[in-house]
Amino acid sequence: SPSAARINVYVRKRPLLADETKGPRPDFDVLSTASEEVGASLIVHEPKTLVDLSKAMDNHTFRFDGVFGAAATNAQIFEAALRPMVAHLFGTKGGHATCFAYGQTGSGKTVTMEGLRAASGCAPGNAAGLYALVAEQIFDEISRSKEGLVLRAGFFEIYRGKCYDLLTTKKKRIEVMEDDKGHQQMVGLQLAELATADALLALLGRADRTTRATAQNEVSSRSHAILQLSVVAPAAQSHQAPELRCKLSMVDLAGSEWASMAQSDLRDNRLDGAEINKSLLCLKECICTCTCTHAHMHLHMHLHM
Ligand code: ADP
Repeated sequence: SPSAARINVYVRKRPLLADETKGPRPDFDVLSTASEEVGASLIVHEPKTLVDLSKAMDNHTFRFDGVFGAAATNAQIFEAALRPMVAHLFGTKGGHATCFAYGQTGSGKTVTMEGLRAASGCAPGNAAGLYALVAEQIFDEISRSKEGLVLRAGFFEIYRGKCYDLLTTKKKRIEVMEDDKGHQQMVGLQLAELATADALLALLGRADRTTRATAQNEVSSRSHAILQLSVVAPAAQSHQAPELRCKLSMVDLAGSEWASMAQSDLRDNRLDGAEINKSLLCLKECICTCTCTHAHMHLHMHLHM
């Protein structure tokens, strides 16, 4: 089952866009998936020119925990990849999990995480994104538990190695520090207590407007955005602190193409690229460590091609 493994990797293929298939030199599709919807393998078609100048095609097959074809919807991705993970979190009484969206700008990370909302021609299963679908499931679990659990959400961004709160009206720098138990704490991160999935979406919408969408699209694809969802149980006694039950982080990683900009001639691009490279390298180290130790951590990676 997907929840038995500590790390799962899923790939989603987005459909070719109209401006990619039209025009004098239309792109051709270099990716086939075993299923148009949910499968486990994909083939990358690599066109080649041989020494005698004849054309050839190298086909490479890859297998993942799940491969979502161009007709797959956010709803199907949620069912296959996220629902078992969230159910597992609530089952363990104290689990942590992280879901990463990784891929270059334009590969469909925002559509997957935020959904297409009411965009025209949007498949019904793509209207809601993983943020909303996960939030709905969390609120279902909370109401089923009858323990008075509460959801607290934080939303922040990491840009050039520094953290900024996205829920404050003006983007505010926050410090990351280690507490006496060795846990990372975000000092001063604003947390919103929420009661419905709609309230979460409204909050993210507001954060988008104030800090991310305003001529900052460039910056947002060069930063990592983290939605942190903590479920806390009320303290048993009034002098005690509320107990953290489980925590889910949804990470929209910086466009992976920026990592290669480390070679750019523009100093600013070079700095961004180097910083993204460094952070993706750190992430790789963490994931490698997770696969060979027994820390209580589940990492789910979403790869987009
Ligand atoms: P990213 O966040 O990775 O930069 P986007 O989510 O903004 O990428 O997607 C880039 C473009 O592709 C957008 O125009 C989006 O509407 C379109 N797109 C991505 N995924 C899909 C999909 N599954 N179905 C239809 N259009 C999609």
